[in-house]
Amino acid sequence: MSKQIFLCAINNILSGSCNEDCKFCTQSVRYKADIARYTFKPIERIVAEAKEARANGAVGYCLVTAGKGLDEKKTDYVARAAQAIKREVEGLKLIACNGTATLEQLRYLKAHGIDSYNHNLETSEAYYPQICTTHSWQERYRTCLNAKEVGLWLCSGGIFGMEESASDQEALIDAILSLEPESIPINFYHPNPALPIKARSVGRERAVEIIRAVRAKAGKERLVMVAGGRELLFGGHEREMFEAGANAIVIGNYLTTPGEAPDRDRALLRDLGYEVVERCDAL
Ligand code: SF4
Repeated sequence: MSKQIFLCAINNILSGSCNEDCKFCTQSVRYKADIARYTFKPIERIVAEAKEARANGAVGYCLVTAGKGLDEKKTDYVARAAQAIKREVEGLKLIACNGTATLEQLRYLKAHGIDSYNHNLETSEAYYPQICTTHSWQERYRTCLNAKEVGLWLCSGGIFGMEESASDQEALIDAILSLEPESIPINFYHPNPALPIKARSVGRERAVEIIRAVRAKAGKERLVMVAGGRELLFGGHEREMFEAGANAIVIGNYLTTPGEAPDRDRALLRDLGYEVVERCDAL
């Protein structure tokens, strides 16, 4: 049987107005990046976009809101969006990515159709103060534990190439694995002129090593997903990341940067001899 690849899509349902200072993030208002900013995308539009993602082969669908974390209004909104998608779109596992979350908020999301929670550790605990000063790494870790405690699946990973050291990269991988997430998104930093980190400090060769290290520690069962930065690093070299152990990718656009056209990604996977997973019972 050929290797099977999972496709996930992202919908940025509330974009670009966050007061935190994460140095990698164009959605922080502090850096004035030139991106679309809007609040509460209409639910009919989210459902229509979910249908399109499903038609493009996505089996995971992630509802992302900018900001440090959930409050009552956002929790209700994400829950309503999830219910509407579950009513109208068959075959999508729903992931919420809404920052810091309490047990109560996560239980509410789960009760309304969310299957999995995405919260990334972003970098090592030691390096984290260099990339964010407005909230702590420990708070991120706590939210990941909360997601597991309420019985949601956990999707947790990080960003590589933010000038962190190799030992920070190893510490990040170990911290992610200590959470035993079902899915591990690996992002490679995507530079933007507005952001304080000016360049990506990881090249393709190191990126392959990172994917290989994550897969070696994660074992066979977990999803290892190459997310942000894939096109920049692996455009024309995609086989390398799959052979290193990736078995999932994000299709379509990212939060604030355009991705590859989904039909081109599907054609590429076909050409490489991989199968696209039609149903996801693992998320
Ligand atoms: S908390 Fe989230 S949305 Fe806000 S700046 Fe950090 S990564 Fe971006």
